[in-house]
Amino acid sequence: MELVSSSSRLNKSVRQQYMVLPQHGKVQVTYVWIDGSGQGLRNKTRTLDQEPTGVQDVPKWNFDGSSTNQSEGSNSDLYLVPVRMFKDPFLLDPNKLVLCEVLKHTQEPAETNLRHSCNSVMDQVKEHAIWFGIEQEYTILGMDGRPYSWPINGFPAPQGPFYCGVGADKAYGRDIAECHYKACLYAEVKIAGTNAEVMPSQWEYQVGPCEGIEMGDHLWMSRFLLYRVCEDFGLKVSVDPKPVAGDWNGSGCHTNVSTWRMRQDGGLQFIEQAIEKLNRRHMEHVCVYDANGGQDNLRRLTGFHETSNIKHFSSGVADRSASIRIPRQCSKEGRGYFEDRRPASNCDPYAVTMAIASTILLMDED
Ligand code: ADP
Ligand code: MN
Ligand code: MN
Ligand code: MN
Ligand code: MN
Repeated sequence: MELVSSSSRLNKSVRQQYMVLPQHGKVQVTYVWIDGSGQGLRNKTRTLDQEPTGVQDVPKWNFDGSSTNQSEGSNSDLYLVPVRMFKDPFLLDPNKLVLCEVLKHTQEPAETNLRHSCNSVMDQVKEHAIWFGIEQEYTILGMDGRPYSWPINGFPAPQGPFYCGVGADKAYGRDIAECHYKACLYAEVKIAGTNAEVMPSQWEYQVGPCEGIEMGDHLWMSRFLLYRVCEDFGLKVSVDPKPVAGDWNGSGCHTNVSTWRMRQDGGLQFIEQAIEKLNRRHMEHVCVYDANGGQDNLRRLTGFHETSNIKHFSSGVADRSASIRIPRQCSKEGRGYFEDRRPASNCDPYAVTMAIASTILLMDED
């Protein structure tokens, strides 16, 4: 098996000689989209004659859907519809990254384009100014598929010293987290922070607060940047919710939520109402909280390792073994936000935010 990645061993200082060449006003725009797996990202680049000032200046494009599991070879063209523009931290200004929705030739959304329906829910609840913040956990893997820098025959020391750790034997692969953070800031992805996680080579970053549809857009672009940074270093990313079985923490996408009313004085009552509604739809939510209809989260939501049991809905103040946690500070202040701890690291944030917004804001009171 090839254990060294091909991109990372190219000489990056030779690359630098080309990266500084003038572009004579032309702009490279890289279109990014979610492929037929609902988890993978694809991208391709074209030249525009002028710098686009916003997504409205970026033309639609198309691609071969038969190569991404999104259509049959006999009718393979799918449309790329630009929906959000970011700065490109790899090719640098004035070049752009553009997140796209995928439409079929009939103009209907492709199967894995959940943004389309998410966007219409977010439009319906606009007056509530719903904010989200997602904590994306992930594990860095070597090209051999094992967590980065884990011993070849065996395991590192048990969990304990790694969470927010410092030192060569505590923090595994910090360059990834730091370079990804800078890349997000350059791109103007709304990254809020980062920390080393409980399992060695496991990390987290947070994106938010983002309003409505912005959450899915920024999280997907942050994942693109993470894969791309790791490519430079010859490492892989796993967003599997339980990358190592046994006494090792899994990975989630804790989703923090507030509406305008929850953020005002006395807002805690609206948080409690929302939690009651989430309780009534627990199983429906669990089914869209990972990339496999709830199957992946079965391995993670065991009731151990700071998780709740997938079978039971629960909530509590400062309770990290509950489905929903109300942060201590919010309970004290009587307003703020709540944290849905159930979404898995490989969830589609459009599915998660759409489910939460429709349950807490569009569900009938009965
Ligand atoms: P934890 O204590 O669970 O590890 P983090 O600090 O990692 O929490 O993440 C908290 C997340 O909550 C951040 O993404 C932040 O943007 C988000 N957040 C903060 N305030 C709000 C709010 N009012 N509504 C929604 N999300 C919020
Ligand atoms: Mn071709
Ligand atoms: Mn966190
Ligand atoms: Mn965490
Ligand atoms: Mn959390």
